[in-house]
Amino acid sequence: MNDEQLLRYSRHILLDPIGIEGQDRLLASRALIVGAGGLGCPAALYMAAAGVGTLVIVDDDEVDLTNLQRQVLHRQHSVGRAKVESAREALHDINPGIEVIALKTRLAGDALREQVEAADVVLDCSDNFATRHAINRACVAARTPLVSGAAIRFDGQVSVFDSRNVDAPCYHCLFPEGGDADEVRCAVMGVFAPLTGIIGSMQAAEALKLLAHTGQSLAGRLLLLDALGMEWRSITLPRDPACEVCGPRT
Ligand SMILES: [Zn+2]
Repeated sequence: MNDEQLLRYSRHILLDPIGIEGQDRLLASRALIVGAGGLGCPAALYMAAAGVGTLVIVDDDEVDLTNLQRQVLHRQHSVGRAKVESAREALHDINPGIEVIALKTRLAGDALREQVEAADVVLDCSDNFATRHAINRACVAARTPLVSGAAIRFDGQVSVFDSRNVDAPCYHCLFPEGGDADEVRCAVMGVFAPLTGIIGSMQAAEALKLLAHTGQSLAGRLLLLDALGMEWRSITLPRDPACEVCGPRT
């Protein structure tokens, strides 16, 4: 790190569990953030500010007026622009020392696999089950840790699925595909603005810990937030030995 970086990241370096070594790891890391919406915006903000060296942000959507209530990277003047371009500009304003790669696409197939393999951590900030399952499959195959978040109405959830650990469940162990979980979207159901900030920030926290090799991750636990009552619940997640995505493993 040069003098400016030592200063910029000094409040991390002061933390024993991070220190110079952990900050160096962040600077050398590459994170894939899928979705530049309610969760992806706060997650990307903290990842960029904290100095994750390369951020790949993927989203195929444009900024809409209804996004501005919670998607804090985007501005009034960005309505109509690609979300990833708006996000890249905002992140560059905060930290010009990192590289932000903006992909205006819906990643699938080989392109998804390549991005997941290249990443040290993946943040699922998407809003639909098909994407979530596709990301999970790619993460299990590449053994890339996945930080998963969701927010709808006043309900949030966050967990880590880390298939480098043979005992840890994957997203599919928890939510089997074709299950009876109804797809509920913010567009129809509404979402409390700061809930997305809380959950997205927690995704950044888990991702930064994984990248810095510090602390204990949420792997094997699901945190559920009821923001109306402001109550957290923690549920232990067992791995499904019959999971068609991650099991059986050796
Ligand atoms: Zn599984």
